[in-house]
Amino acid sequence: MISFYPGPSRVYSQIPAYVQDAYEAGLLSINHRSAEFMEMSANAIRLLREKLEIPEDYWVFFTASATECWEIISQSLVRKKSYHLYNGAFGEKWWQYAQKIQPQVVGKAFSLEETLQVAELKVDEAVEVICITQNETSNGTAVSNATIREIREKYPEKLIAIDATSSMAGVFLDFSTADVWFASVQKCFGLPAGMGIMICSSKAIDTALEIGENNHYNSLVFMIEKMRDYQTTHTPNVLSIYLLMRTLEKVSSIHSTDAMLQSRFETYMTFFSTGKNMECLIHNPEVRSKTVITLQAEAQRIREIKAAAKKAGILLGNGYGGWKENTFRIANFPAIEKKEIEILKNFLEAYL
Ligand SMILES: *Cc1c(COP(=O)(O)O)cnc(C)c1O
Repeated sequence: MISFYPGPSRVYSQIPAYVQDAYEAGLLSINHRSAEFMEMSANAIRLLREKLEIPEDYWVFFTASATECWEIISQSLVRKKSYHLYNGAFGEKWWQYAQKIQPQVVGKAFSLEETLQVAELKVDEAVEVICITQNETSNGTAVSNATIREIREKYPEKLIAIDATSSMAGVFLDFSTADVWFASVQKCFGLPAGMGIMICSSKAIDTALEIGENNHYNSLVFMIEKMRDYQTTHTPNVLSIYLLMRTLEKVSSIHSTDAMLQSRFETYMTFFSTGKNMECLIHNPEVRSKTVITLQAEAQRIREIKAAAKKAGILLGNGYGGWKENTFRIANFPAIEKKEIEILKNFLEAYL
């Protein structure tokens, strides 16, 4: 089965061999306070910095998931009020979880086809953190680096937190324009599910230390303390850290991965533009995600396509939330091979 699911998604083909290596090296049972662990963790972080071009003064943390990062931000970086801009299910869910922790949280929805107009944004004085889902996996929209930069310039005093779960390690992200970035590894990183990565500016670190919230095992102040030794507050997913290190050793620079995905994306767009029976859910090219492509058709047709695809050994991503019945999604993630995309296109040709 070739998986085009946008998470959990196709893993790199080298994963089984790396798992075997980890087992043989005895890494599957190492203690997470040992020198051996710290060295591996430091290596994985060094490679992340190098391959993703993370600025030097940013910190990198391992978490359990992207969902956990939503809570860490509300717990440790917000005293009272965060502001959530969203246009899909993940951004909305983040806002809802944040509300349970900080009741004053503001949620502002924008429409699917809308390029965010930063000049029109009104974020009040009391807001401490602006939260944005950079790549909305549920509908295949994205917020550009340029828009995030504009928000940074308009609100230099506030922290900006970015959910980049389905874009990090696939497209180039300008980390310098925001303070907290996070993702989980089962999307563009091409790894099995079970770990999140959180990247924090020194301003975010200073804020966490100043607030000093320490009520949780995953309070950022504890995470910072442990990360001074490349450790985590809990026993982490050691295998995932190992697999991350091994895959990062092999991947190209983020700029060449970005260029590859951009070119694949354009090929998909040309391909789908000839179709009469299906179309991209998102019509505004400025806001289309490069890594998650959402196709819309009649519900009956979507069911047929998904079932036939499964028979042909192709797993398409189901529609999500409100778009469950009338869309399907295709992951444009780096671990997917070129020949697999050809197989998908050959299959879809008959349904265009
Ligand atoms: C997948 C996804 C999440 C949730 O990731 P978990 O690893 O399940 O916590 C959050 N946000 C976005 C945008 C996602 O695509």
